[in-house]
Amino acid sequence: MITDTIKRFVSRLLRPAPSGPQRIGRERHGIDRRNVSRHAIKVCEVLRQHGYDAYIVGGAVRDLIVGLEPKDFDVATNATPEQTRPLFRRARIIGRRFQLVHVVFGQEIIETSTYRAPAEATQETDEHGRILRDNVFGTQEQDARRRDFTINALYYDPLSEEVIDYHDGVQDLKNRVVRMIGDPATRYREDPVRMLRAVRFAAKLNGTLHPDTRAPIRELAGLINNVPASRLFDEMLKLLTCGHAMDSLRQLRAEGLHQGLLPLLDVVLEQPGGERFVELALERTDARVRGGKNVSPSFLFAALLWQQVEHRWKQLCEQGEHSIPALMQAADSVLDEQTVKLAIQRRYASDMREIWFMQPRFERRQGKAAWRMLEQPRFRAACDFLQLRAAAGEFDSVLAQWWMDLADNDDASRAAMIEALAHEPRDPDAPARRRRRPRRRPAARPAAGE
Ligand code: ATP
Ligand code: MG
Repeated sequence: MITDTIKRFVSRLLRPAPSGPQRIGRERHGIDRRNVSRHAIKVCEVLRQHGYDAYIVGGAVRDLIVGLEPKDFDVATNATPEQTRPLFRRARIIGRRFQLVHVVFGQEIIETSTYRAPAEATQETDEHGRILRDNVFGTQEQDARRRDFTINALYYDPLSEEVIDYHDGVQDLKNRVVRMIGDPATRYREDPVRMLRAVRFAAKLNGTLHPDTRAPIRELAGLINNVPASRLFDEMLKLLTCGHAMDSLRQLRAEGLHQGLLPLLDVVLEQPGGERFVELALERTDARVRGGKNVSPSFLFAALLWQQVEHRWKQLCEQGEHSIPALMQAADSVLDEQTVKLAIQRRYASDMREIWFMQPRFERRQGKAAWRMLEQPRFRAACDFLQLRAAAGEFDSVLAQWWMDLADNDDASRAAMIEALAHEPRDPDAPARRRRRPRRRPAARPAAGE
């Protein structure tokens, strides 16, 4: 405790004087204004016209400086939400604890928040130091200080094209160093999710954690357990879809952050046999993200948990359970186990189940079976999933491609493809059949549930 106080005192001494942010010009930060959302610029302009301060802030500035395409644009201002909302035609105040304004332009939402104080004096924390309330408005300098990393505390003025930098964030960004603002241990205690964020940004920037930012993580990793499961899920999803998922997971492991976080991570990273499938899933996810495509969370988590489901499925079958009920049971038990720590939302979990349950059905194509598959709402995702299994060598790749072609075709060509099967000898997928037949027959009456 005393050392914490001393550390905080020293870090306060070392902090740059509040009067002196750097104002960094375009030649140094390199942001091309054409890559900035015109809606975000508009929000800043309107606020300025009404006499307020307004800057683009946070992840967007960071990403623009390193040449990545920002996911979204946030604006920070000294106007309160009540002052901001009436200035825009479509704007609503959201949030209970800390209100902010969503300014809506068609598909794009510009999240506009009022400068917030770190609230060192007023904040309420739990017994581990985790912040429970921090809803006090503040100055820009205070707003910068309550942010997590120096690279996330940059304010871009789209009118003057200057970046306001209180914590040497531009330099850190050029060096690709993730450095906590203030005393790292204290800030991790305030919000343990910052440990995951540190790892994610380092992976995303292809950079490193500053030694001081890294040092306390191993000791404090256990605090992750105090974070609400739904918030952990959101953060894990961000980590898995940052475009550098495998690097992030490796780094999590290196920092001791993976244990118990997602039980599957232990399996994924530690079992040589299990790696291939998950690695493939993550590589494909990374490629999609980097290509600017959407990633479906249910698909991703279905892939991450598949190995475990399959393993349990096989065990149950060996114990004499019928194939379909065994798969259902395996899926339920894996989901139950995984969701203790990580609240996989119900709608994702039900999509994951559907993707899994359709897998054994890809073994049958004849007659109505293929048409029935095409009618399933999650057919496309299940078919993509099948491709992954084929790439990992656990499903016949010719057959997987047949399903993919079926998915991509129009109904006339589909009919022709299915019709053509009738003339084929009935065994391009013979091994599967031979295994399945004797088991299916007795099961078909009471339990197959087709
Ligand atoms: P991305 O959206 O690319 O994941 P981001 O930096 O925009 O990254 P957000 O979660 O959108 O991350 O948060 C926006 C900004 O809010 C951050 O850049 C940071 O300044 C601040 N912030 C977010 N989470 C925290 C936190 N846990 N502690 C302190 N500041 C935070
Ligand atoms: Mg963001």
